Amino acid sequence: VSIRGPVPILSASLVAAVVSAATALSAFLGELPSRFGWPYLILGGAFVYLGRQAYDELRTQSEVAAQRQSQVTLLHVELEQHRSSVDDLADGLDTAVFICDSGDKIEFANRRARELFGFDEPIGRSIVTVTLSYELGQLVSRLRESKQPQSAEILFTYPSERVGQAKSWTADGERIFLSVYEITDLRRLERIRQDFVANVSHELRTPMTIIRAMAETLLDDPDDERREKYLTKIVAEVDRLSTISQDLLVLSTAESNPVRKQACDVAEVFRSVLGQLDGKASDKGLETAYEGPEHLTIEANSAQMTQVALNLVDNAINYTIDGSVIVQIEPRDEKVLIKVRDTGMGIAGEHLPRIFERFYRVDKARSRSTGGTGLGLSIVRHIVEAHGGTVVVESALNQGSTFTVTLPVS
Ligand code: ADP
Repeated sequence: VSIRGPVPILSASLVAAVVSAATALSAFLGELPSRFGWPYLILGGAFVYLGRQAYDELRTQSEVAAQRQSQVTLLHVELEQHRSSVDDLADGLDTAVFICDSGDKIEFANRRARELFGFDEPIGRSIVTVTLSYELGQLVSRLRESKQPQSAEILFTYPSERVGQAKSWTADGERIFLSVYEITDLRRLERIRQDFVANVSHELRTPMTIIRAMAETLLDDPDDERREKYLTKIVAEVDRLSTISQDLLVLSTAESNPVRKQACDVAEVFRSVLGQLDGKASDKGLETAYEGPEHLTIEANSAQMTQVALNLVDNAINYTIDGSVIVQIEPRDEKVLIKVRDTGMGIAGEHLPRIFERFYRVDKARSRSTGGTGLGLSIVRHIVEAHGGTVVVESALNQGSTFTVTLPVS
């Protein structure tokens, strides 16, 4: 904002000096008729009149000056308020915003811009120095050449690896605006979704290929003996397909619905699942045991807790050749620790970070032979985390495994 034209600034002392000079002059002129006669009196009157005019003029100018001064102060206050609102607005955005001058030096950077590039004081530095991104520099150069808005998806490597959607534009061809919206999570989720779709189609294709091959063989060779064998295999593969679709449904329901918690007796849930699978364990010569309180009520979704118990205990039985499967429940502070311990084949260290991923299996053939889908542990993790808990595994090859679920009591 600028005030156009000169602003006469008149100090109070100048006004006072003029007033006292005019007063002295008028007193002096009052004595003139007796001393010097009427012509001088008229002349004195004219002087007084002119002095008065000058005084009034000066007074008006001083008032105008004071008025303008207060307008300027008001405008300064308004400007400050406006600037601070714009700063607050820019700082509240999730998008990094830079304003650069005609030499590509940063004039303004909002809070997100400082955070994203880990730079506390970017003002006065070049955009490439602050972002360490050659591609962002290129985007600005293209804008300078074409004067047309530019945009690009950029992989930033400093201070950590992130993907951003960058845009730059200019209004006057000199000052440029630059925005960077981080889309790292979006791209990661997209990749997960693509992998998931690829995995699902692969998982479905395998049994379908087997079913088709068996059915074709049956068509060509309706030998009674083989028919039974092939039909049994077809039924097993169809069962497998339905297990996969069931697990996918459980996973997608858990992911899309918020958890509905009620009072849930987790001790009862795990004891009853252990009882349900006891037959399967004893068929393999495994011992099962429950250690913990008879009842322990927490706030949780009972159906989902049953799913967690089923997946963990079933895995423990599936991946254990001899020994035992033990469930231990222990209340601790405001939490409850649930351990599913087995003396089975264990998991080698290199697989541990990945076993909660969807469709990840250490040994595909073994998982297949036990009717596994590779989704059990990812369902467990999803349900537990949706309840505000955690699940971790301790295991070593041939040393057994312990899966520990920690859940908040409420
Ligand atoms: P799956 O349906 O194949 O069992 P999960 O998601 O339940 O899929 O488990 C992923 C993989 O983790 C399994 O394929 C298996 O290799 C390993 N795993 C899970 N639980 C155990 C366990 N108790 N002992 C050894 N390996 C296990």
